[in-house]
Amino acid sequence: MIVTAMDVYKLLPKTNCGICGEASCMAFATKLSEKEMELSLCTQMMDEELEKLKNILAPAVSEVTIGTGDKAITIGGDEVLYRYELTYYNPTALVVDVSDDLEESELEERVKTIKDTEFERTGEKLTLDAIAIRNKSGNSEKFVETVKKVKDANLPLLLCSFNPDSMKAALKIVGSDRPLIYATTEYNIEEMAALALEYDCPITLFIPNDLDKMKELSNVLRSKGIKDIVLDPGTFVDAGIGDSLDNFIMIRRQAIEENDEDFRFPIMGVPAVTWISSKEDKVTTGMREATIAATLMNKYADILIMHGADIWELIPVLTLRQSLYTDPRKPQAVDPGIYEFGDVNENSPVLMTTNFALTYYTVEGDLKSGNVNCYLLVLDTGGRAVDVSVAGNQLNAKSVTDLIRNSGIENGVNHQKLIIPGLAAPVSGEIEDESGWEVMVGPRDSSGIPDFLTEKW
Ligand code: SF4
Repeated sequence: MIVTAMDVYKLLPKTNCGICGEASCMAFATKLSEKEMELSLCTQMMDEELEKLKNILAPAVSEVTIGTGDKAITIGGDEVLYRYELTYYNPTALVVDVSDDLEESELEERVKTIKDTEFERTGEKLTLDAIAIRNKSGNSEKFVETVKKVKDANLPLLLCSFNPDSMKAALKIVGSDRPLIYATTEYNIEEMAALALEYDCPITLFIPNDLDKMKELSNVLRSKGIKDIVLDPGTFVDAGIGDSLDNFIMIRRQAIEENDEDFRFPIMGVPAVTWISSKEDKVTTGMREATIAATLMNKYADILIMHGADIWELIPVLTLRQSLYTDPRKPQAVDPGIYEFGDVNENSPVLMTTNFALTYYTVEGDLKSGNVNCYLLVLDTGGRAVDVSVAGNQLNAKSVTDLIRNSGIENGVNHQKLIIPGLAAPVSGEIEDESGWEVMVGPRDSSGIPDFLTEKW
């Protein structure tokens, strides 16, 4: 159920006291319903209304936090089945595994790779979120030794063992760091639940392909007072991903449409199983794993354990995550104003573009890779691209003239020439008339800027 600002407003004190930092209760209600403010900022609530508000603001899918401090990750928190209905909250956590049978040097190298994985796209650094430590050896001591070594990586951990003794031994080392226990099953639920309670750690319930059993055991965990549960209905890859996908969709539908308390938890997928039965080469297996990860992320996976750690495999998964978890209600924008590239002086060319993030970072990339020395004026079009803002009249003679006047560029150069994007050609004459600057129409594609400047500047 989507909570509206009016639903929230009805329960607020309506005194417009301003203590929360907003001018009115309605403004606070609007931000609260859009998860832009915390309920605790209103200190004027009566207990009864406060409880009611907490209940209606609780997301359909519970939030679960793994790890502590600034590296902690929160998963879940979604309210809707389809992103266009609202937005998706808390990006899918991407986790890569290590196992306790690796040689020390292999383990060190793999942990370093996981920590160092970073890919920049549209101004955002995309990274991995956590490390899953598998008790592949079946030996508690080896598991503990590996946990001790990986602990220093300072990333949230998933402890992967079905053996309660191994889990207990590992939790003695890192229990206070709030690792995710993976996993409890119908066979170890008493011991694992006791550990989750003792160490106050989130726990994964692994029930492959049996949602009735999953519901029953989720209820058992909840009845013990465990609130932080992650559901893993199994990731089946050999006969295609269909069964897994069906289970993911049914769990999320039960949570959001039926408000079924036993399913209101984040879902885990384990594309890493692709490697277990694969008879293909490394590249083919890695591509298959990435495809499975992308498929499950599209259909509600809140956390994914992967095995492939090559950047070429991770880039499409990281990129998809970034795209899925942008807010469709807010255009992605950069700050408008004046930007400098390379060594600029009073003779440097002055280019212009809009503040749509994808446009800006494409232009930025082309200017940097072309070693261009220039000023770039970035127009506030509300995060719209050049052609869209010409059509919508955000890019017009007045807005560009205001940008020239207010940016201070007139003090930085000894000429009055502005290079506008090729897609803004229809308004070039108007800009020239209004601003008094000579307008040069640049290429339609920013990759052509370096050659354009060589020929015409
Ligand atoms: S603190 Fe509470 S009562 Fe005061 S303006 Fe904000 S929402 Fe309204």
